This record gives sequence, C-alpha cells and structure tokens, in this order.
Amino acid sequence: MTTQTHHVDHELIEAAAHVARTRCRGDQHTMAAAARARDGRIVTAVNVYHFTGGPCAELALIGAAAAQGVHELDTIVAVGDRDRGVVPPCGRCRQVLLDYFPALEVIVGGDDRVRTVRITDLLPEGYVWADHQGDAE
Ligand SMILES: [Zn+2]
Repeated sequence: MTTQTHHVDHELIEAAAHVARTRCRGDQHTMAAAARARDGRIVTAVNVYHFTGGPCAELALIGAAAAQGVHELDTIVAVGDRDRGVVPPCGRCRQVLLDYFPALEVIVGGDDRVRTVRITDLLPEGYVWADHQGDAE
C-alpha cells in the first residue's frame, strides 16, 4: 500500500473532540465528526445510533454539510466520546465517503500516530459506484 502522510489538521481534530465532549449523550450519540470544507469552513455532526442502522457521524455530517450548502469536503475526522480519541471510519463510511468525495483525506490513528491518508488508501481496489452506472455500450 502506498499510504501517504499529509499535513494533519489539528484544528479539525479539536473541533470533533469538542463536539464529542459537549454534545454526545448516552447511547444515542457516541461519535462526533468534523470536516474541512473546500472554502475552509468546518462542519460537524454526531452519529444517530439506532438498532435499525442509524448513520455514523461521518454520514450524518454529509447531510449536515449539504444542509449548509457545503458539497466539497477536503478532510474528515471522527472522534469518540469518553475521550476515545480519533476513530477510523467503518467500512460502510469508507465506501460512502469514496463515492461522494473521491479526493477526500481522512485523519486516522491514535494519539501519537495520528496522520492524514487518502480515502482511496483506506479502501484499496474499492468499488467505485459511479463507474458502474448507465452508459451501457
Ligand atoms: Zn461508519
């Protein structure tokens, strides 16, 4: 794997950590995500836990961003409640993030190993949904 390390957006991590500390409640909201929009804005969200498959914080964030008119995200990070620190995206989120933002960078790794990687590095040989729609020849 050719995972590259890029600049780590510590302000973004702190934004997610702040939401995790102040907004996560009990079992319904246990994760916070923050993303850096192309225009520099930070968008945040929390997960919506539910046994029917409520969305992770990363997916809730895509909707929150769209509601604010933000459709271009450069970097995303998720932080767990109860001081769990940076948490990598689950498999479903990796697929959704890749399809929505193919150039997205994701902050992963624990305390002293925190780093920025491309979404494509988190889902090597991934299925690209857009490559398989219509245009039947
Ligand atoms: Zn997820």
